[in-house]
Amino acid sequence: MISDEIKRFHDELPQGVELVAVSKFHPCESIMEAYNAGQRIFGESRVQEFLAKIPQLPADIEWHFIGHLQTNKVKMLVGKTAMIQSVDSLRLLKLIDDESRKAGVTTRCLVQVHVAQEETKFGFSPEELIEYFESRGFESLTNTQICGVMGMASNTDDEARIRADFKQIADTFKTIRDNESLGLQGFEVISMGMSGDYHIAIEEGSTHIRVGTTIFGNRNY
Ligand SMILES: *Cc1c(COP(=O)(O)O)cnc(C)c1O
Repeated sequence: MISDEIKRFHDELPQGVELVAVSKFHPCESIMEAYNAGQRIFGESRVQEFLAKIPQLPADIEWHFIGHLQTNKVKMLVGKTAMIQSVDSLRLLKLIDDESRKAGVTTRCLVQVHVAQEETKFGFSPEELIEYFESRGFESLTNTQICGVMGMASNTDDEARIRADFKQIADTFKTIRDNESLGLQGFEVISMGMSGDYHIAIEEGSTHIRVGTTIFGNRNY
């Protein structure tokens, strides 16, 4: 049962770890079941699907966008999310900032760190990201707040490898956060951990786990 899973997460998650319920490919009824069990943060990964769902669901849902965002869809998304977690290029970041300025809103974002061996090519390497902050690239943003990092571990059964990936994401975050000369405000989120590996992610410092399958069951693509 969706509601049982939500309650279990709310009971078991340590202080300081938020659950993002990943509802992509699942219908509004399933989202409502989770909502009625007390869940408020939901994650979606496709713009069209997300935009179709919002008007059908309660306004106090905090929507996190977690999928690869094509630049031509930024405009449709800006102003509708609590957070865009999947900012994977400087071009995208600049565009989000431009569109947010035009819309008169501030968009909260995470920058995606790429450490996994395979899968997505999307995201910044840890070196690129640290270099971006150290060169103070973020200072030119007027309507975007970078709240932290998002990442994924390698898709493998090798627990040591998964743990090493999460550690690298968390270390990248800490290197940036602990650089006091940057004067970053509100840089506090490490979004990592999915259905198969969130236990390890929490041990390695995750503040936001993104869980779909464990809550909603398998997706029918
Ligand atoms: C789909 C997705 C998830 C959830 O994955 P599950 O294995 O179903 O928990 C988490 N993060 C991202 C970026 C996703 O696209």
